[in-house]
Amino acid sequence: MGLFFMPRTKKPSKRKLLELWSKSVRNRDGNKCVICGKTDHIQAHHLLQKKRFPEYQFCIENGISLCPTHHNFGHFSAHMNAIFFSEWLRLHRRKQFRWTLSKMVEWKKNRLHKDITMP
Ligand SMILES: [Zn+2]
Repeated sequence: MGLFFMPRTKKPSKRKLLELWSKSVRNRDGNKCVICGKTDHIQAHHLLQKKRFPEYQFCIENGISLCPTHHNFGHFSAHMNAIFFSEWLRLHRRKQFRWTLSKMVEWKKNRLHKDITMP
């Protein structure tokens, strides 16, 4: 009977974890867009896509704070212009740029290895 009323320890949902991740990223960046300094509707952007790199989706190093213009909508936003954004990252966030690139290289290596060893 006692056990029946025990509070269940609930695993935090993925959504909740992503919310926490986003908040931590934005806090680190002073709650402003790292490119233009705007403070309205700041979003945390994943440098490595969640789908391809699920193991890093909650990693602070994998996030950067952007306004909607620089995240999704502008001509020079991260999602519209990967070349501009990666160049910006290389120049202004060298450490994060290198971290992201190293994970991509690692992923590519593993994939190549898989391709070669697959029958
Ligand atoms: Zn911006």
